[in-house]
Amino acid sequence: MTTTPISTVLIVHAHPEPTSFSTAQAHGACRALEAQGLHVDLLDLYAQAWQPVLDRHEFPAFDGPFKPQREQWSAVRDGTLPDDVRSDLDRVLAADLLVLSFPLWWFSMPAILKGWLDRVFVMGGVAGGDAGLFETARLAGRRAVALVTTGGPAAAFAPDGAFGDIDEFLFHIHRGVFEFVGYDALTPVITYGPAHLDDAARADALRAAADAFRDIEHRPSAATSRTRRSLAG
Ligand code: FAD
Repeated sequence: MTTTPISTVLIVHAHPEPTSFSTAQAHGACRALEAQGLHVDLLDLYAQAWQPVLDRHEFPAFDGPFKPQREQWSAVRDGTLPDDVRSDLDRVLAADLLVLSFPLWWFSMPAILKGWLDRVFVMGGVAGGDAGLFETARLAGRRAVALVTTGGPAAAFAPDGAFGDIDEFLFHIHRGVFEFVGYDALTPVITYGPAHLDDAARADALRAAADAFRDIEHRPSAATSRTRRSLAG
């Protein structure tokens, strides 16, 4: 698989507070990427009050029970995706690197970001059909990375820590989202427990997160990546 050099980046950010550490971290990543001459598109879901609920009303009238993926397929084929979905799907398709920026909520992402994926990562748009899934899917050759903050400290996320191995529970994002649609899932950029750091350590952590994006072209794949077999076995 040939990897596409990164020239355009989409950062999808999901934190409800503009003065949060997570938001500062997303902006730091944005500046670090722009400083390399990359084009960065920043989508702030809360700032846009993005509507995250996938339901029947966003599709033209149909017969029979509501089958969300079937309606998404039809909407891609017929050009009837809602404007907000079509516009963000185009932003995804324009980017060589996708950054999902979020605080860890219940070992996962905030609902607004999960809903953005539900509505924008449509079958037939990012994967499926002739393109298939995983290595052959529409976004194959491109890269994606999670940019995360946590409440708990790093030690709690070690394999024997109180919360368990963070690589294990980011698996649903790395394998279930990124790789499913073809991306190479990069090693996540994580600031552990920013609320519990002193000012100096917090400033260092913010710098470290930005530094991770200064050499993003060479960032290795996530530990959980590329170890599974294809759907065919
Ligand atoms: P903030 O509280 O916004 O920031 C931390 C500190 O950094 C603040 O003092 C802030 O003023 C300061 N700061 C902001 N900007 C800057 C800057 N530019 N420079 C320096 N300092 C700055 N945690 C877990 O570990 N596991 C879970 O499963 C989990 N589930 C959660 C579920 C929910 C519903 C919620 C609300 C929280 C959960 N948390 C969990 C906690 C959450 O992950 C953390 O609170 C969050 O990640 C911390 O990041 P933040 O940006 O919100 O921090």
